[in-house]
Amino acid sequence: MTDDSTSVLLIYTGGTIGMIQNPETGALESFNFDHLLNFVPELKRFNYHISTYSFEPPIDSSDMEPYHWARLVRIVESNYDRYDGFVILHGTDTMAYTASAMSFMLENLSKPVILTGSQLPMGMLRTDGKENLITAIEIAAAKNPDGTAMVPEVCIYFESDLMRGNRTTKINAEKFNAFKSYNYPCLGHSGIDIKIKPERVRRPLPGKPLKAHYLFDTNVVVLTLFPGIQECLISSVFHIEGLKAVVMKTFGSGNAPQKPWFIRLIKEASERGIVIVNITQCQSGSVEMERYETGRQLLEAGVISGYDSTPECALTKLMFLLGHNLPPDQVRRLMNTSLAGEITKE
Ligand code: ASP
Repeated sequence: MTDDSTSVLLIYTGGTIGMIQNPETGALESFNFDHLLNFVPELKRFNYHISTYSFEPPIDSSDMEPYHWARLVRIVESNYDRYDGFVILHGTDTMAYTASAMSFMLENLSKPVILTGSQLPMGMLRTDGKENLITAIEIAAAKNPDGTAMVPEVCIYFESDLMRGNRTTKINAEKFNAFKSYNYPCLGHSGIDIKIKPERVRRPLPGKPLKAHYLFDTNVVVLTLFPGIQECLISSVFHIEGLKAVVMKTFGSGNAPQKPWFIRLIKEASERGIVIVNITQCQSGSVEMERYETGRQLLEAGVISGYDSTPECALTKLMFLLGHNLPPDQVRRLMNTSLAGEITKE
């Protein structure tokens, strides 16, 4: 349900979607976003109001930093009452990080914030950007009969799938289906119709106003275990100056070597207040530290489960919680609590 009073704010940050091929050099260059209508004249056919805001200059998403996330949150917060929904055009490379971070920064969100982008630039004939953009706008504007937003979440819409943002990972550098949500089903799909699955969508607590958060602490690291990993490597990671948290990517359902030096280093780091979160290197599935002896030892050494969190989500959630200056035990407790539907706890 939409009508001509419906309005969507389209925010362009950069990335392939807003590019055009220079006919002389063949290189991809950003086009002036004010000229978006030249590339997508279909936007004029929406019966609602679409405003645009562009990062100046647009940035490749590899250059995204937490202060850019804060800038996006500020744009959403300061325009919150004026629009029914928000669409963010973003490079695909770090879109899953931005979507995860924003899901924590926008507490009590009751309006859609839909991120999308494309694998081929808008200025190319076979672009996937048009469909992604047009459908993302439709989802951002979609309302239930009672006037509430159909999808009041931070999502990624890409190649027919609507996914909870903090559950997504970029899986393909080439094909059009660039994103996947392995551990939570899609919130909707687009085909002939756009079908939203209301039972999968999170609902805000009624009457609670939006609370925007801006603080981040980037003293975190991702450590991927591998057979043959050396004591000096683990030790130097755990002794990085100022380090507050580690996302440890373990084997299978959360397993790690049982070598005494390994467990000792983990234990010492935990006792020094470093929060160590265990997530699996597998794309799909969850950590279960109680299942094998190798996982149980980690638990006893102070490691906490990241459940079925994506690496992007575990990392940004840690940055977000540490940014609020919480003591390590509270960070550990909140890492084990679902704040925005990011982990599955049975
Ligand atoms: N490098 C680009 C970016 O992430 C790729 C893309 O947009 O797909 O900004």
